[in-house]
Amino acid sequence: MTLNGKHALVTGGGTGIGLAIARALATAGAQVTITGRRLEVLESVAGNSLHALAMDVSDEGSVIEGVAAAVSARGPVQICIPNAGIAEGRALHKTDAEFWRKIMSTNLDGAFFTIRECLGSMRQTDWGRVIAISSIAGLKGLKGAAAYSASKHGMIGLIRALSEDYLGQPLTFNAICPGYVDTDIITRNVTSIKERAGVSDEAARAMMVEANRHKRLIEPDEVAQAVLWLCGPGSQSINGQAIEIAGGQF
Ligand code: NDP
Repeated sequence: MTLNGKHALVTGGGTGIGLAIARALATAGAQVTITGRRLEVLESVAGNSLHALAMDVSDEGSVIEGVAAAVSARGPVQICIPNAGIAEGRALHKTDAEFWRKIMSTNLDGAFFTIRECLGSMRQTDWGRVIAISSIAGLKGLKGAAAYSASKHGMIGLIRALSEDYLGQPLTFNAICPGYVDTDIITRNVTSIKERAGVSDEAARAMMVEANRHKRLIEPDEVAQAVLWLCGPGSQSINGQAIEIAGGQF
């Protein structure tokens, strides 16, 4: 498969799953704009068709400006990957409005702003792929993480609605729902699970490994390969789906 001539935008593309996706798309021939809040992180991995762009997905103005700058530099964005996210758990009775808004504004508002700003490019060129990185917490409740689960369920609702809205046009909208993937988020989750469950680092990590029926964490590239497939010609009829990559966890 070749993505020569395509321009992809991956939010949170400087680290973890986003970086694996960006590299896979670039290897297939796409020019890839990678975004995040920390320009220095993006610049440290940029080059070879990866282009760094500072953009805060929770800030509507920043997304409007960022996508416009990406389009002006590299042409219409036809592959949009809303991946930026924060995963922090807190029981609902300890969740104040500020914490709720922080999770929602990054995970759900961020996906909304990013997709909306890229839609013009896709409609104008009559081709588009939107692949949102949700979570298995978007398909089932994640204990101790009500805001995160709600935001990830919301992303799937958004994707399903868009697949209806633009039905009949050559655009597809899908979500990927990973289980525990070996990235920095996992390291941070170990800390929060450890604190919540009162267990050691090793026990917290073991809980995540145990959740996967293959008894291992998922590699970021496994998510990237699914994204690549969803951009290819063999998946044009896959639309409005939430695809699990979770080692049978759900
Ligand atoms: P990382 O922490 O490595 O990636 C998160 C990325 O999001 C970072 O690059 C970060 O960049 C970016 N980001 C966070 N907030 C913002 C913001 N306001 N504006 C722009 N960028 C932002 O973890 P992962 O790669 O694991 O996570 C990627 C996605 O995958 C997340 O949405 C996560 O919920 C989801 N996911 C991860 C799982 C896992 O087990 N790892 C499981 C299921 C889903 P910066 O800080 O520079 O802004």
